[in-house]
Amino acid sequence: ALSAQRNVMEFLLINHPLDCPICDQGGECELQDMSMGYGRSVSRFAERKRVIPDENLGPLISTDMTRCIQCTRCVRFMTEVAGSPELGGMGRGEMLEIGTYIGKTIDSELGGNIIDVCPVGALTNKVFRFKARAWELIARESIGYHDALGSNLWLHTRRGDVLRSVPRDNESINECWLSDRDRYSHQGLYADDRATKPMIRKNGELVETTWEEAIAFVAEGLKKAGSDIGALVAPLTSSEEGYLLAKVVRALGSDSIDHRLRTLDFSDGAAGATFEMPLAAVENANAVLLIGSNTRHEQPLLSHRIRQAWKKGAKVFAANPLDFDFNFQLTGKRIVDAWALVDEVAALVGGAAGEGVKSDTARGANVEDHHRAMAKALSDAPASVIVFGDIAVHHPASAQLRALARELAAATNSSFNEVSPGANDVGLTRAGVVPQSNGKNTAEILAAPQKGLIVYHAGSKDMSAPKAFDAARKNAEFSVYIGAFACNGVKKSAHAVLPIGLSPEIDGTYVNVDGTAQPVAAGSKLPGDARQGWRVLRALGAQLGIEDFSFTEYVELHTKVKEQLVQKSTSSRSGQVSTVQRPSSDRAPGVFVRVSTVPIYRSDAVVRRAPALQAHPLTGHAAVGLHPEDALSLGLSAGAPAKVSADSVEVTLPAIVTREVPRGSVWIESTWSEVSALPPSGSLVNVARA
Ligand code: SF4
Ligand code: SF4
Repeated sequence: ALSAQRNVMEFLLINHPLDCPICDQGGECELQDMSMGYGRSVSRFAERKRVIPDENLGPLISTDMTRCIQCTRCVRFMTEVAGSPELGGMGRGEMLEIGTYIGKTIDSELGGNIIDVCPVGALTNKVFRFKARAWELIARESIGYHDALGSNLWLHTRRGDVLRSVPRDNESINECWLSDRDRYSHQGLYADDRATKPMIRKNGELVETTWEEAIAFVAEGLKKAGSDIGALVAPLTSSEEGYLLAKVVRALGSDSIDHRLRTLDFSDGAAGATFEMPLAAVENANAVLLIGSNTRHEQPLLSHRIRQAWKKGAKVFAANPLDFDFNFQLTGKRIVDAWALVDEVAALVGGAAGEGVKSDTARGANVEDHHRAMAKALSDAPASVIVFGDIAVHHPASAQLRALARELAAATNSSFNEVSPGANDVGLTRAGVVPQSNGKNTAEILAAPQKGLIVYHAGSKDMSAPKAFDAARKNAEFSVYIGAFACNGVKKSAHAVLPIGLSPEIDGTYVNVDGTAQPVAAGSKLPGDARQGWRVLRALGAQLGIEDFSFTEYVELHTKVKEQLVQKSTSSRSGQVSTVQRPSSDRAPGVFVRVSTVPIYRSDAVVRRAPALQAHPLTGHAAVGLHPEDALSLGLSAGAPAKVSADSVEVTLPAIVTREVPRGSVWIESTWSEVSALPPSGSLVNVARA
């Protein structure tokens, strides 16, 4: 056997370059290890070695295809696991080359995993390239914090700086994979606008100061604002920070604290939903219905689980406002505008429950055969699941949609899996970062600006109403930004800036969609004078003389918060469903319903600052997407400038012509500054040729 292995190694090394000293895989290379064990010290191959030109696979993956040993792991990963067959082998025998055929980039949201599966240095991490050797790195356990799954990962750090992230096995969450968003987001930690010094406004200017003075200044400002205080918290905040901030706000006499920054309909008070079917069990479902969800971009590894289920024969259906490109095939789909989506789900309830429907909306629904067939597939499946996605959670009538989806789940005996937005919606809800009595929610805080405003890690691009947020922080008598990035908006409006760390730099607990609390220890160093958020809030609470802020160690705080984090939360808190006023369905030509999504690499402040992710084709740009027939009727072609107007706002955006958009809708992604003044998803907008 040894002799055979030596011979195989000799064949493998025939064409392999002598690159080890300059190869990024050096020190963690399977081929290096194997040739140490089984290789001959001398090669009998005297001919010229084969050379293969490198491919440009995009901003995330670097290639040195001469090192490829043609194992086809990358091809099989992309085809079988990621469901995005973007790589293949061309030629045969010695001429076999791995590539994309036509010189395109890898666009899959899971593409970075081919770096891990490649046993050699043919595919390496472009962001990490030539930064460090494997033996210089310290691996620290951490989790991803850009979606609600909390994928487990290893941070590879050198002298406290995160240089790369690689997956850490956890069969119940991410198995052995990692989405590109979690893999490359660490670049955002080192953005130029990182806040590194506490600042306070003196004579109209923000000036750097000491922590003591900044904390005293903020305590004074908040005291002056009295109980008229609102706090807006980004959902990537840790549970411990949320817990302390909620205590500070409530001690000041206010209950206006919220982390549901993109929610449009607060009527049922939904927050902190967890899955009824565990994430890992989704891959054993026999029928899946997606309601308002592009799982592939919202939670890439949930999409992967659904794909596993589909590969085992599950029927997958979708009721969506856009015809998304999934990595599984749909057995049936209903692609309609944002308002008709409610009617579609109502019709599905009608199809499932027949005479037994409970809600008025479902009773009056127009049930057709395809609704009955879809509902029957869910009812007949031994295990079925309804995924209530990000678009549904942020729908203008999300309470009504949620109530209908829950009724459908009950009628078809399906699990109801609502995907909570952001990384820690569940943890923050359990820690009290939602109004609990008479407090205001995000929309109310923005509608009637408070005297005092606390912005915790949040920015205007995290909001469904960016302009209202900018006005609120500008008009507040005292506004403090406690967060990681001192961007222009913060510098213009904040009276004080308290720089704090982000997830890999701080200790904190995050609760994922399964309700699993995952404590994470700080894995990298804080920039400049920034501190851990809990320390800043502890000092602020002590300065304000709030009880129970005398602890000094994180573990004391964590012990207090831990108990709160295990309590079960339901998705619907008040159960109230208000009927939202719909825009008239009788529309003039050129009037469309806006459907808005968050681009995968624009979901939070950190990923928006990761240059490699921003250069990725999936990030896109501000544009208006139209159905080809609607584009034709407006005389618009792909790339032509289109005038989009609503509520006395007018912007010009390039048109994208795509069949993903149903007739009568326009797709305008949020988070772009060009579209920040436009009304949110579900609103009517005028589109014309510019
Ligand atoms: Fe050396 Fe491995 Fe790189 Fe080949 S792939 S050059 S064996 S480190
Ligand atoms: Fe070549 Fe690496 Fe792909 Fe294997 S995984 S075929 S070595 S590029």
